[in-house]
Amino acid sequence: MSYAQTGHFSDTRSDREVISKNNVAGYDIRVEGTKEEIKAVESQLTSNFDKEELRDASKNGISITFKELTKEGIKKIAGRYLFKTHNGREQILIDVDAAGDHETITHEMTHLCRHMDPNRKGFEKSRVFQVGDEKKIREEDIPLEEALTVAETIARVDPDQTRTNVGYYTSILTDDKQSISREKALIFKNEDIATIKKACQTVIIKREYPKKIVECFNRLRIKHLGSGANTAWNRFKELRRQKDGNN
Ligand SMILES: [Zn+2]
Repeated sequence: MSYAQTGHFSDTRSDREVISKNNVAGYDIRVEGTKEEIKAVESQLTSNFDKEELRDASKNGISITFKELTKEGIKKIAGRYLFKTHNGREQILIDVDAAGDHETITHEMTHLCRHMDPNRKGFEKSRVFQVGDEKKIREEDIPLEEALTVAETIARVDPDQTRTNVGYYTSILTDDKQSISREKALIFKNEDIATIKKACQTVIIKREYPKKIVECFNRLRIKHLGSGANTAWNRFKELRRQKDGNN
């Protein structure tokens, strides 16, 4: 989505009174949305991230905008981190229906931290490359980026608020390459919640989550996210092999 499409709000929801607030959560984070939407951002950022993570992630400034996001195919898009700046600020878009789901804001902020946090290494970071002024994630890296972001989001959020959000779990491929039902997707998600919470039980500062997620990734259902041969797990193994080959 280009930024030109994002600068104004849809007027189909006339009851939305949109305001702008700076320095949300105490850092250079600007949120445009209703009072309730701004509150949701404050609450998710302060409970799901360390202060130091927010400080480092917001060093370019962050702009979080609530709007009605368009559908892509049959799926409605809940949120987006654009991997490109506008007036020097990192951009996050959140759909007006996703403010209350306790997951989307944290998911997009996790993408942003995977890109911006200088303390991350290897698979803890997004694989971003630059074309001219634009930053991009290669097509073959998208399932891996999403799967690691989904898993890290699970580590950060309160599981009892999100057990019934199916999200990316319907895009997991089974062994016979069939897509799965919503019911099955939720079973897989709850298995991942249990695995991740166990793997992270000794974590004291939230900045340790990325490392723990990479360590337990081979045991997660979400590693099978993707399409055809291009799954997160296949890409993970391929990149690990390349790295081993270079040593
Ligand atoms: Zn995502």
